[in-house]
Amino acid sequence: DGTSDISAFEKHESEVRSYSRNWPVVFDTAKGATLTTEDGVEYLDFFGGAGALNYGHNDDDMKAALLEYVQRDGITHSLDKYTPAKRRFLEAFQSVIIEPRGLDYKVMFPGPTGTNAVESALKLARKVTGREAIINFTNSFHGMTLGSLAVTGNSMKRAGAGVPLVHATPMPYDNYLEGVESDFKWMDRLLEDSGSGLNKPAAVIVECVQGEGGINAARADWLRALRDLCDRHELLLIVDEVQMGCGRTGEFFSFEFAGIKPDIVAISKSIGGYGLPLALTLFRPELDEWTPGEHNGTFRGNNMAFVTAEVALRKFWSDDTLEKRTLENGRWLREKFAPLVEKFPGQVELRGRGMAFGIAFTNPELSEQVMKECFDNHLLVETAGPQDEVVKFLAPLIITDEERQRGADITYAAVERALA
Ligand code: PMP
Repeated sequence: DGTSDISAFEKHESEVRSYSRNWPVVFDTAKGATLTTEDGVEYLDFFGGAGALNYGHNDDDMKAALLEYVQRDGITHSLDKYTPAKRRFLEAFQSVIIEPRGLDYKVMFPGPTGTNAVESALKLARKVTGREAIINFTNSFHGMTLGSLAVTGNSMKRAGAGVPLVHATPMPYDNYLEGVESDFKWMDRLLEDSGSGLNKPAAVIVECVQGEGGINAARADWLRALRDLCDRHELLLIVDEVQMGCGRTGEFFSFEFAGIKPDIVAISKSIGGYGLPLALTLFRPELDEWTPGEHNGTFRGNNMAFVTAEVALRKFWSDDTLEKRTLENGRWLREKFAPLVEKFPGQVELRGRGMAFGIAFTNPELSEQVMKECFDNHLLVETAGPQDEVVKFLAPLIITDEERQRGADITYAAVERALA
């Protein structure tokens, strides 16, 4: 069964590596939702580049555009210079995504990754308001730099980061909290009480579905109440769309279903389309108080990523085909796994929206066992959640019915065996 030689990695690569420990093979080529090892063994990919591969691996149209660009010596590294590739991307993003949704945002390129988008969002919110504190939520994940870690509600991920740079105010947040009203009355009182010593915060940062936190889907009414809270207290609302954006939950932005408009949005992962690094920070035009050069980065605005991103936007978002398919796939997965919830009451729970799908267990040994068994049956799935107790699917949105069925059957059998 083609076991790759991983000895070179074990000898030379740092202990910090994680995914490869669960998948000790050497992946070489990939197409659609299939990864192939250097020994020619195929794996079905429900990991989806941790959300960076919503359109699958090596899409033919993106590849053709990229090859054409490289063949004619299109500029690759341009920093902030104007290029046709950047112009075409900006025009596509505005006309295909922003304007049809009645949104109005300026775009900045904060650096190559999602962390850079979050970092610039926090920085802008603090600069514009002249305030410091950021409200974030338990189980959130926003990135790996000290600023983004400071608003990350996961002690394992924060390890080594030291003292928080931002004063984080915890707030109740999960699927099961009832009474949105009372949550926010509590917050109102805290924010109004000048004697409490709480400096008025600059912003709130939220994921509409927490990805690393275990596929915790916020309710629409809760998100609307959060928007109202921000309006009442003049706080900026930052939505982190890094993992859940680009159609993962159905709509292009995960905030759309709640009918809210954030002030600042962080996007990355699948926006590049082809797995190439690209990040955007969007903000209301009146928040554009940046002065030239105030936020920069050598690798921001990669032209090859602009080329593939433009193809992705026009190919997948000019109509609602992908959105409908994603919602349909999400419903299908829920129905497929529903019998397990009946069969093992209290032991397993289904979470998510669209193709952000999670199967939560009562302890991480079970999720680990399921992940391992999936791998043995040539399916890649990840785990998430505060204890890694949730099996997480981020399958490419373009999976076929056959792939959907195959991946779900493998996982279903693994869950049944784990809980038997
Ligand atoms: N925000 C969220 C919600 C994420 O899921 C991630 C990555 N998992 C990040 C930010 C950080 O993005 P990156 O790894 O590209 O820096």
